[in-house]
Amino acid sequence: MKTLKQYFNEAVADKWALGHFNFSTADQLKAFVEAAMELKSPIMVGTSESEADFVGREQAVALVKSYQKNGHAVFLNADHHKSWETTKAVVNAGYDSVLIDASKHSYEENIVLTKKVVDYAQSFNLEVEGELGYLRGSSEVQEKIEISPADYTQPEQARDFVTRTGVDRLAVAFGNIHGIVTNQEEHLDIGHLKKIVQAIPVVPLVLHGASGLPAEEIKMAIQNGIANVHINTELRVAYHDTLHEELEKEPKETTPYKYLKSSYEEMKRMIKKYLELFGSVGKI
Ligand SMILES: [Zn+2]
Repeated sequence: MKTLKQYFNEAVADKWALGHFNFSTADQLKAFVEAAMELKSPIMVGTSESEADFVGREQAVALVKSYQKNGHAVFLNADHHKSWETTKAVVNAGYDSVLIDASKHSYEENIVLTKKVVDYAQSFNLEVEGELGYLRGSSEVQEKIEISPADYTQPEQARDFVTRTGVDRLAVAFGNIHGIVTNQEEHLDIGHLKKIVQAIPVVPLVLHGASGLPAEEIKMAIQNGIANVHINTELRVAYHDTLHEELEKEPKETTPYKYLKSSYEEMKRMIKKYLELFGSVGKI
C-alpha cells in the first residue's frame, strides 16, 4: 500500500484531492471505506476530539487497521485536535495523521505548539497538518456566519509557518467556513487561494468546511491547488435525516442492523458522489 504522503504528492502533481470524512460510529466508517474501495479511491477518515472520545482512540485505530490489513487505502486522521494532551494521545494510539489546530492562538503560539507536535510525531512516522487563518463556524447547520478577508490565510505568513514548523500539509482559509449556512451563499476566494499556492507550491493544501459549497467551487479549488477536502456536516445531516425517516416509517423495528441500513446506504451513495467530484476515483 502506498503511504499517505505518496498519495498527497500524486494529488498535488495531478490536481485531484483526497476526501476526508468524519465518523463516530462503525457503520459510518464501513460505508465510507466500502464506497471508496468500490471506486478504487484512497480515502481519509477522521475523528474530531469529541468523535474520538465517543469511538475510542485505540478502537478507531483498530477498526481502520483492519481495513488497511486487507489492502484498503484508508488513512485515519485526528481532525482539529487543539491541545498537546489530546494530540499526544492520538499519536500514541497509532493514528496515521493529525491536524494540530492551534489557529485560535497567536501566530507565534501556533508555531510553538505545531512544531512541538511535528517533532513528537517524527518518531511515529505520522503526517502532521497545521492550520493557519481563522475558519469560522462549527460542523452543524447555522443561519449566517460573518466572513472577513482579515480571517484569510496570508500567503507570506503561510510560507514562514510551513518553513518554521515543518508541517506536511496546511489547512487554509479563503472564504470557507465550517458547517452549512442556510441564510447566505458560501463562496471561495479562488484568487486568494492562488496567492497561497504561489507562496508554498509543494505543500498539500486542505479545504475545511466544504459542506454547503457548490460542487463547481470545490472543483475550482482542487484545480487551483487544494489536495484534501473535508466533509462532515452534510454527512451528519444526511445520516440523521435518513435514520429519522426510517424510524418513523418502521416504528416497531428495534434491530439496529435493520433500521441503520438506509442511513448506511445513504452514506455510501454520498461518499461516492464526493469521490467522483474530488477526482480520486481509480487513483489506487
Ligand atoms: Zn475542519
